[in-house]
Amino acid sequence: MSALDLETDVLIIGGGMAAAWAAIAAAQAGVEVVLVDKGFVGSSGVTATAGPGHWWAPPDPKLRAAAIDKREPSTFGLAERVWAERVIDTTWRTLPQLAAYYPFSKDGNGETYYSGVRGPEYLRALRRYAVDLGVQVLDHHPALEVLTHRDGSVAGAAGYARLERRPWTIRSAATVLATGGCAFRSGLIGSHTNTGDGYLMGAEAGAELSGMEFSAIYTLSPAWCSTRTLPYSAARFFDAAGAELDIPPMRSDRTHFQALAKAMLEGPVFADLSEAPEALKPILRRIQPATIAPFERRGVRLFEERFEVKLFGEGTIRGTGGLRIVDDDCQTTVRGLFAAGDAATRELVVGASSGGGSPNSAWALTSGQLGGAAAARLARTQGRRAGERAHSRGQTGLRPTSAARPVDERAAIEAVKDEMLSYDKALWRRRTSLERAEARLDGIWTELGQHRRAEGLDQVAARETAALVATARWSTRAALARNETRGLHYRADAPDLSPDSAHRLLVGGLDTLWTRFDIPAAKVLEAEVAA
Ligand SMILES: Cc1cc2nc3c(=O)[nH]c(=O)nc-3n(C[C@H](O)[C@H](O)[C@H](O)COP(=O)(O)OP(=O)(O)OC[C@H]3O[C@@H](n4cnc5c(N)ncnc54)[C@H](O)[C@@H]3O)c2cc1C
Repeated sequence: MSALDLETDVLIIGGGMAAAWAAIAAAQAGVEVVLVDKGFVGSSGVTATAGPGHWWAPPDPKLRAAAIDKREPSTFGLAERVWAERVIDTTWRTLPQLAAYYPFSKDGNGETYYSGVRGPEYLRALRRYAVDLGVQVLDHHPALEVLTHRDGSVAGAAGYARLERRPWTIRSAATVLATGGCAFRSGLIGSHTNTGDGYLMGAEAGAELSGMEFSAIYTLSPAWCSTRTLPYSAARFFDAAGAELDIPPMRSDRTHFQALAKAMLEGPVFADLSEAPEALKPILRRIQPATIAPFERRGVRLFEERFEVKLFGEGTIRGTGGLRIVDDDCQTTVRGLFAAGDAATRELVVGASSGGGSPNSAWALTSGQLGGAAAARLARTQGRRAGERAHSRGQTGLRPTSAARPVDERAAIEAVKDEMLSYDKALWRRRTSLERAEARLDGIWTELGQHRRAEGLDQVAARETAALVATARWSTRAALARNETRGLHYRADAPDLSPDSAHRLLVGGLDTLWTRFDIPAAKVLEAEVAA
């Protein structure tokens, strides 16, 4: 089959809720939109498996201020109030638009309950809404690389259609990266396609990342299969001998996971959910069907029998790092390249602590809406520029710099998993182990870049491996540079907050990495004056 060549105003890369909301916003602005997903829009990405709750506060200034104040301490000074306000407001105004496609439930008072939705139906509704607005959805069309104009602005992307087995190129005036976060192939439910591709494609085009050190977070699941987190809030935990373990409640994310991980490093840990709220038991199937299925298949009675649990890494999915955003339109440092959802840093809203549990969904919706609308505006003002030459920016995994030869990719991915997910390395970071990880990952990166050549469908796997290694390197470098403990990032060798480090940490580069604190110009000036 011949290659697919398209031209559009706005290209959206990704197929989760952020991508769908971006496509909807761009199409509503009246421009032509194409959306490409690695999987099938409706079942791929982490939203599809969930029962996502959105950050939700009515337009009463006191209620909104209270919602933001409540989260403020856990941001550790890295969030911006104006972003939290924007996210809450956009979510409140936008989510009800879906009423024609999604059967919102009622709350206890007979009012429509918008904030909590069932993932699979939500995604199906978003897809139908986007298609009705004229968005062209291309399932199983993973993007491999971004294209840029001579002036460095984005000119579209190229990829490979997995079912039709043919390359594709889509020229666009603006592009939104909504490729999700990266769970480092931990087995986390819904995350198999979340390999950090958007970070790599963005960085190759010149984008910067932020907050990649906030990537050590886990979800608790039955040992044999990753599920969602909902039923564990009232769990009690036991060791193999039946002795109860002292585990802090789930709310205090890091200490909860550290206590569980410590116990798991010593032996199997079992959860007992018999004290879960009675009200939850009959409705769990409706809220999170994916949570129930593995228990039924095993014949385990979820709320009656103890079962072994394990931690599945969530990386930057419920961590907070991602592509740096430099304006209110969710644009990256590359002109015409926007980032939305977990592909973008969520520090602007949640700072150093996880955005799971409602801000992340609200962020995915809002950043999708802002990025999609801004991409449409750019397309209208500058035109498609399709006659200009476009340069391919993909490198590692696509264009080896030396003689091509087989590279052990399985070993590369295992190394990423070992360095990024091993409880002792991720939850108790230390300079020595981070430096060892960096040297190991750098070696793998160099080998991939020099020798890995892929053709056809194999390019997708090659780029996933490259993106996993790249994401692990940025996370490790940032974890080294943040020589303190803040939020999700715990340095066992620097266990205190450092007042000098109350800034977002930027990281970037491909072969040679760099970091720098994102200190506002006014603050630099203030410090210079004081000195
Ligand atoms: C266990 C768990 C529970 C959670 N609970 C909540 C909650 O209750 N509330 C909340 O706010 N948040 C929650 N979150 C977080 C929330 O689910 C995410 O923030 C949100 O789903 C992000 O949406 P997204 O569209 O950015 O990413 P995703 O839904 O992951 O979508 C990414 C998409 O990009 C596609 N893609 C990847 N690479 C490419 C490529 N190269 N080319 C084309 N497409 C590509 C993928 O196939 C996928 O479709 C939870 C997350 C987890 C893991």
